[in-house]
Amino acid sequence: MKIPGKRLIPFWLGKKLRGGWQKYLSFKYKGSDYYCPYCGNSFVKFLPGGIDVPVLKEKEVIGGGFRENMLCPRCFSVDRDRLIYLFLKEKTNLFSAPLKVLHIAPEGCIRALLMTLPNIEYRSGVKYYEGYYYDRNINLMDVTALPFESESFDAVICNHVLEHIDDDRKAIHEIYRILRPGAWAILQVPISLKLEETFYDPSIKSPEEREKVFGQFDHVRLYGQDYPTILERQGFTVRRYSPFDEHHSPDELKKYALNQQELLYVAYK
Ligand SMILES: [Zn+2]
Repeated sequence: MKIPGKRLIPFWLGKKLRGGWQKYLSFKYKGSDYYCPYCGNSFVKFLPGGIDVPVLKEKEVIGGGFRENMLCPRCFSVDRDRLIYLFLKEKTNLFSAPLKVLHIAPEGCIRALLMTLPNIEYRSGVKYYEGYYYDRNINLMDVTALPFESESFDAVICNHVLEHIDDDRKAIHEIYRILRPGAWAILQVPISLKLEETFYDPSIKSPEEREKVFGQFDHVRLYGQDYPTILERQGFTVRRYSPFDEHHSPDELKKYALNQQELLYVAYK
């Protein structure tokens, strides 16, 4: 979402201040109960985060709403990012194989990881710079018209983006197009456990109405249980991943403070 108006302080200073704040929080919450795999630090707790909007509760939306242990005090990874880390580590060759990866609307912790892996050829893009969140060296691009050749990437990571886009089919098609056969994409969206079918109504335009109906002021739809089918219609094969279904015990996973109900949707070309 584009934030109108001029920033009160320059980007570099905002970034520096945020870094200092993160260092302070990391010291304050130092402990051993919770662990963040991105920054490698342990804490007594993660920070709470997310906003409770009635529709998110009513429709049982996974990936939204208030969570007690959501945010890593050091690198600001959220529960979803930590779920993604486990998937990348256990189910992909991201840490060893030479892969070309496109990261859309890049989460800071995932971006930092990918940029330090010498085997990864990393590209990132975002539609708008958002406050102090995105580095200014990230390219601006439109996910419904990606500026890349067909079949040129081994992986795409694009989380919580599609629910902002009117023509989500076009975005999914574009992601499919630039992936090589056999490549994969992590495409998380907020998803309702109660809605069978995705709800989209382009006549709902005001931020207030969108928040009330879709759960956030700039969302244009609420995905339902048909989400994998929407991906499959563009050619993908979808697999769901949860570490809780695997060889991990809930106790072992407790330190990552994951949402046990959150499944990772991975789309394969
Ligand atoms: Zn962290």
